[in-house]
Amino acid sequence: MHLVTLIPGDGIGPEITKAVTDIFAAAQVPVQWEEQNAGQTTFDQSGELIPNSLLKSLEKNKVALKGPITTPVGKGFRSINVTLRQKYDLYQNVRPSKTTAGIKTRYEGIDLVLFRENTEGLYSGLEVYDERLGIADSFNRITVEGSRKICRAAFAYAAKHGRKKVTLAHKANIIKMAGTLMLNACKEAATEFPQIVFEDKIIDNMCMQLVNKPEQFDVVVTTNLFGDILSDLCAGLVGGLGVVAGANIGDDMAVFEAVHGSAPDIAGQGKANPTALLRSALMMLHYLGEHDKADQIDKALEATLMHQEECTGDLGGQASTSQFAQNIIAKL
Ligand code: NAD
Repeated sequence: MHLVTLIPGDGIGPEITKAVTDIFAAAQVPVQWEEQNAGQTTFDQSGELIPNSLLKSLEKNKVALKGPITTPVGKGFRSINVTLRQKYDLYQNVRPSKTTAGIKTRYEGIDLVLFRENTEGLYSGLEVYDERLGIADSFNRITVEGSRKICRAAFAYAAKHGRKKVTLAHKANIIKMAGTLMLNACKEAATEFPQIVFEDKIIDNMCMQLVNKPEQFDVVVTTNLFGDILSDLCAGLVGGLGVVAGANIGDDMAVFEAVHGSAPDIAGQGKANPTALLRSALMMLHYLGEHDKADQIDKALEATLMHQEECTGDLGGQASTSQFAQNIIAKL
């Protein structure tokens, strides 16, 4: 039995979390949940954003499944996601984007995995504002060690999963120092994996190529801000934020999460699509070595997605979140 910390989150978080735990229970997955919440709701109830008990649970279990958390813009607390990623050095943000037979999109044949550096760059939290001069500086800190770790992780993943190519997206032509540092780290990692093709692309060209011919990409690695943007772009290519998985992985801890937000516009209405969180939970099962259970649930999910009417409204169906979960359970 694997003990896993479960963070339902805010907004639609509790609804999609319930769908996932119901499906796991029906499939008799050997996971025992330890529920600990964080975020806006937790703050309103207890005055704490990230309770100590949650951190203790994470440090003990080393694996968590997390729903979305509301983060106010420009004021208030710092993003809980960023806080957890930095505190526990969850330096890999892994985002697979794959075409699904039942989900209609403009593209076919996409199967790429994006590795976003998760702790550095413009998300380092190193910012100063000089009110007198009216100047704000946000530092794009990139380190040799951080770059080596994420690039190596992308190549190691490619080698382990029989992938053929790693593409680095960067802006070393303009952001000379930080960009070149990442480019050099990736070239260095590439020498350790001679069987994997390595290419680099400047970020603007990368965006154009991704919307023009996305099927050419296999494993993509990039810095924090570019990765944040590219990973949502890639989600859009395969059906949107409601259907793609995400994971924050460190050397000895991993937090799997739905990559969409807390969707306050549909919270509490039973309209939320649980696919993104379910797919993140399946990534977690692979991480825990429960490959058979992950494949069994994945087949039931794929079969459900083939019937639009059995899915939630964002996929063109009429099912509520819990009906969608029941439709998956019926196919297990
Ligand atoms: P959002 O992802 O919450 O919503 C964008 C749109 O997509 C909305 O119309 C929403 O209804 C829809 N949507 C999102 N997830 C869906 C799902 N599972 N099923 C059906 N429709 C879905 O983005 P936002 O509105 O920009 O952000 C809302 C809040 O979430 C903000 O406070 C933001 O900071 C936070 N956020 C959290 C995370 C996270 O915790 N990982 C990620 C992104 C945004």
